[in-house]
Amino acid sequence: MLLEHLQRQLAERDAQSLRRRRRTTETPCGREQRVQGPDGTSRPMLAFCSNDYLGLAGHPALATAIAEGAARHGAGSGASHLISGHGRAHAELEDQLADWMAPHLPEPRALFFCTGYMANLAVLTALGDAQTTLFCEALNHASLIDGARLARAEVVKYPHCDLATLATQLADCRSPLRLIVTDGVFSMDGDIAPLPELLALAERHDAWIVVDDAHGFGVLGERGRGCLSHFGLRSERLIYMGTLGKAAGIAGAFVAAHRTVIDWLVQSARTYIYTTAAPPAVAHALSTSLRLIEGEEGEQRRRHLQALIALLRRRLGGALAGHRWRLAESLTAIQPLIVGSNEDALALSARLEAQGLWVPAIRPPTVPAGTARLRITLSADHRREDVDRLVEVLVQAAEELA
Ligand SMILES: *Cc1c(COP(=O)(O)O)cnc(C)c1O
Repeated sequence: MLLEHLQRQLAERDAQSLRRRRRTTETPCGREQRVQGPDGTSRPMLAFCSNDYLGLAGHPALATAIAEGAARHGAGSGASHLISGHGRAHAELEDQLADWMAPHLPEPRALFFCTGYMANLAVLTALGDAQTTLFCEALNHASLIDGARLARAEVVKYPHCDLATLATQLADCRSPLRLIVTDGVFSMDGDIAPLPELLALAERHDAWIVVDDAHGFGVLGERGRGCLSHFGLRSERLIYMGTLGKAAGIAGAFVAAHRTVIDWLVQSARTYIYTTAAPPAVAHALSTSLRLIEGEEGEQRRRHLQALIALLRRRLGGALAGHRWRLAESLTAIQPLIVGSNEDALALSARLEAQGLWVPAIRPPTVPAGTARLRITLSADHRREDVDRLVEVLVQAAEELA
């Protein structure tokens, strides 16, 4: 019964071109990766799909730092943070992260989590109590959506970047506590949330803001400090979540906020309390990654990434002017090409793959129906000629497929 039920649903997904498949890679994350094809053989592909925006995931200094951290602190943490798993490496990383965010948050503290998904569940469930209304941006990441579902708070959704609707919703709200919840950089679109305007609304309506900066941390702002730095914001009302598996190249996440907020998360966030602390070697290597990101090498990598983004937009945007496929309005490393139907997105992705380019097709429910897309991501690991090659193949496909 169960197996037939599942087989029916899987067949339905196949029929709608919605079946998801994993690819096995044989090489570290980087511009060129060996990937196993459907026939079982593996071959090198030029990859435009990771969130490794600074090209640090395969950086030898970080692999060395993980080995050094394991030699010094052992392989595992052995327990949750509140029992005995909270080690020196975790504590130092949290201090370093709090210092990082100090220009933007008064009296900051940081709390390190195993993943961004868990950090988002933590914030929304620990702060979203029955006295609170959560105002959630329509294009928020799945982990924020799940956090809002689990919270006891009332949940109000506002359309993408629609400040007027949000202002009305805030004005009509009778809850004593109000929390605006948004991605900093939208993960499937690449645009940046209007944070200065959101903060002005929060001040006017006595609300707080949770910002998920998974795609801005390390990339945007001064020394890669993220979206708050990008806009030059500082406020007690900001609760910042940054992930450490994307630009920082390793794994994990953190929440930074006023120390009272962090104190409360330690008391009440179930995804913090009831899980084994991340391996201390991960925390140790993340400290190295942060120094790299804010240092001269990080600056160089960000400059190179910006040059690649400008190059892609100029070449591909120009070539597709008037075409029904559309490059999204994005100034970040996420450069989606909106294609429309699931079938077209898959066909285009398959066409690129045949030419040795790896760019995933993103389909509903990750994006709204009818807006299937290729999610092109750039990394500081790419070279200018990689972007030239991508544009050449895409423009050719646009002429033949559409
Ligand atoms: C990737 C991502 C997360 C989850 O972070 P993980 O560390 O991968 O669990 C959360 N929010 C956004 C916007 C993301 O893109």
